Amino acid sequence: MRIGIPLETAAGETRFAATPETVKKYVAQGHQVTVQFHAGVAASLTDAAYQAAGAAMGSAADAFGAPLVLKVRAPSLEERSLLPSGTVVVGMLNPFDADNIAAMAGCGLTAFALEAAPRITRAQSMDVLSSQANIAGYKAVLLAANTYQRFMPMLMTAAGTVKAVRMLVMGVGVAGLQAIATAKRLGAVIEASDVRPPVKEQVESLGAKFIDVPFITDEEREIAQGVGGYARAMPADWMRRQAELVHERARLSDIIITTALIPGRRAPVLIGEETVKAMKPGSVIVDMAVEQGGNCPLSELGKTVTKHGVHIIGQPDLATLLAADASALYARNVLDFLKLIIDKDANLALNRDDEIVAATLLCHGGEVLRKWQQQ
Ligand code: NAD
Repeated sequence: MRIGIPLETAAGETRFAATPETVKKYVAQGHQVTVQFHAGVAASLTDAAYQAAGAAMGSAADAFGAPLVLKVRAPSLEERSLLPSGTVVVGMLNPFDADNIAAMAGCGLTAFALEAAPRITRAQSMDVLSSQANIAGYKAVLLAANTYQRFMPMLMTAAGTVKAVRMLVMGVGVAGLQAIATAKRLGAVIEASDVRPPVKEQVESLGAKFIDVPFITDEEREIAQGVGGYARAMPADWMRRQAELVHERARLSDIIITTALIPGRRAPVLIGEETVKAMKPGSVIVDMAVEQGGNCPLSELGKTVTKHGVHIIGQPDLATLLAADASALYARNVLDFLKLIIDKDANLALNRDDEIVAATLLCHGGEVLRKWQQQ
């Protein structure tokens, strides 16, 4: 089957859905691959490397004209006009964007949103949320270190001793764990908070301290278990107790990385203005939840702002800042996902009884099959 991989045109998108490594594998499986001219350049992937891997280079129309199209972002209005009815599109197509899903259904596309895959063991090799969050957590620490005007590690020099940076991580999923691991390598002293009880052990195994917010009621304990590994919104009383504890820890912190998300909802506010005011001048906050409204109400999307002497970084899509590795890992996620929808003769084979296929299939045959509700 012919696979098309067009240039990503969304603002700020540097990643690409296939690398020469994955193209070589598609060709070995019997597919013909068309890569749009210069499409991988932002991720340092050259046309020559794709040609050496067996791809044909072509125009946007050639790439979008293939029966199977691999994308990072959902196709724009203009891109949809290049996609013939019946095309299969695979990418991070945003299951919350009901308008775009309806538009894709209207064009007769069969669209798979990889972010919608269930967090089960079999789906781990195609888990784009994890592959990209891992990169984002790493990059968040490097951005913070770059803005912070002091060393990260403790240093003993002839000119005196430099104290190690104190870092606080709020929300310890995939990104938070990588942030802790990265900061640890740079010599930081780290504390972390999460609602989910199993996180405590993971935090401690990385050499960081867990901030325990005790559960007072059975309801709190039950909600904190989350659903499918994801957090749920905690009751106001627990949030208040967490805020009090976090306020005290934040005052002593030099760097705070916030990653706390609740699927389908606005991100919880964890570092309020009063806490920012109490932080040391020159401290840094990286708000990784900025696109979902932010864990800090003072962060601004796409900007670094200084408020009350604290530098607050609101850069979205941190994985795009590491385009080469973000593309490499994303492309392998896509390669593994395609094994579920392509048979051994290199033809499309939709098994809608498969749990991962059913969860990721947004629309097919003009019908919207799945969209997630924003709450
Ligand atoms: P996420 O990006 O949805 O959220 C980030 C973190 O914020 C989570 O740990 C969440 O508990 C935390 N959070 C939410 N509200 C908070 C609050 N008020 N205070 C503090 N923290 C708060 O999470 P994620 O990185 O996508 O991971 C979600 C879960 O899925 C994790 O348990 C992860 O280990 C699991 N997971 C499982 C698999 C698999 O089995 N295939 C793969 C990847 C991740």
